[in-house]
Amino acid sequence: MTTRHDCLARDAADPLARLKDQFSLPPGVIYLDGNSLGAMPRSTAARVQQVITQEWGQDLIKSWNTAGWMDLPSRIGDKIGRLIGARPGEVIVADSTSLNLFKVLSAALRIVQADSPTRRVIVSERSNFPTDLYIAESLAEQHGATLTLVDSPAEIAAHLNDQLAVLMLTEVNYRTGAKHDMRAVTAAAHAAGALTVWDLAHSAGAVPVDLHGAEADFAIGCGYKYLNGGPGAPAFVWAHPRHADRFWQPLSGWLGHAAPFEFSTRYQPAAGIKRYICGTPAILSTAALECGVDTLLAAEPLGGMAALREKSLALTELFAQLAEDRCGTLGVTVVSPRDAEARGSQVCLALKDPLTQAGYAVIQALIERGVIGDFRAGDPTRLDQVPHILRFGFTPLYVGFADVWDAVEHLYQVLSTAQWREARFNQKAAVT
Ligand SMILES: *Cc1c(COP(=O)(O)O)cnc(C)c1O
Repeated sequence: MTTRHDCLARDAADPLARLKDQFSLPPGVIYLDGNSLGAMPRSTAARVQQVITQEWGQDLIKSWNTAGWMDLPSRIGDKIGRLIGARPGEVIVADSTSLNLFKVLSAALRIVQADSPTRRVIVSERSNFPTDLYIAESLAEQHGATLTLVDSPAEIAAHLNDQLAVLMLTEVNYRTGAKHDMRAVTAAAHAAGALTVWDLAHSAGAVPVDLHGAEADFAIGCGYKYLNGGPGAPAFVWAHPRHADRFWQPLSGWLGHAAPFEFSTRYQPAAGIKRYICGTPAILSTAALECGVDTLLAAEPLGGMAALREKSLALTELFAQLAEDRCGTLGVTVVSPRDAEARGSQVCLALKDPLTQAGYAVIQALIERGVIGDFRAGDPTRLDQVPHILRFGFTPLYVGFADVWDAVEHLYQVLSTAQWREARFNQKAAVT
């Protein structure tokens, strides 16, 4: 079995280990929640301070031109594009993931229906992140379409028919960490005459993504998870150039206009992806997002996303292995796929009977010990199929092998001493 000493040796030999210096993490914390809120880059505070005191405080409104505020969404979009296989000018930063999903889903639906008005079905997975399902449901209602949910990826094939308009999937599942084969799934959807919308919330900055290689149609993603942009950071949006100019998206705000400062009374969409901008960008949080994205680009000379992926898989494999070896007899099971190809950058655990309800308290006890993961509630009526989940994200930028070993050791302690039973770990907070 792997020892702590082995892990320290792996950290010492890891060329990516020094990337951790880019982050300001409190001492004694093993942060395994970068899949929910990325850690804070050291550069962020000074950069945001500069935007506030110099660009806003001193240069005032001139900064829209002189500090490049107007170009920030495209400049950062291009940087994100390098992480997801998009070309310069194809990605912009704007709004939230939920809002961007609304925009691209409407565009995809309209493009398909322009050629095939009878295609009225959006297919997604029941296990998709709820906001994606809520947005799709509302949109389907407005367009006279229907949202069909499948219970497993294997069921998708049965819906690839002449009714299908859009296949809307999150590449890496937020609960289980299971990862789709984007290229194969997209090809199957195209063969059926449909378009794809990919949510990259748990992919961008976590796994290599090749949007062009996969021939994807639309993609959106989150700024505050693996991109380390800060709480509520703006999200991003990509449309394949073959689609970008076909329709304008429904949130046709003035900054997505071809010439906003002509103040025309008629909407004329900007060319390409810029039409996916709605209103004025949130400059403070957009500036912070750039610092986060830069922490990933710093890995480019060290092998970029491919090198980060290799480390991420080594970390998640080690965690799953140690969790099973050390805590298997205490009731821990690994829910995430053990096949590396089919896994994102997180590992989810479930607890067996009689501990099925203990997950939340176990996470709270771990957090008190400095091991920060999170809890995602299962389906109370189908806990055998959708169990409560203890979720651990492994961000190769700032998590090391000894961290993994220590995290499992803490989990072992919490379970073997039944520390999680203490009352203070069993009081539910609003955010889990
Ligand atoms: C985190 C996440 C979101 C978040 O959406 P917001 O609009 O930023 O709140 C959406 N979809 C998925 C799949 C996510 O994981």
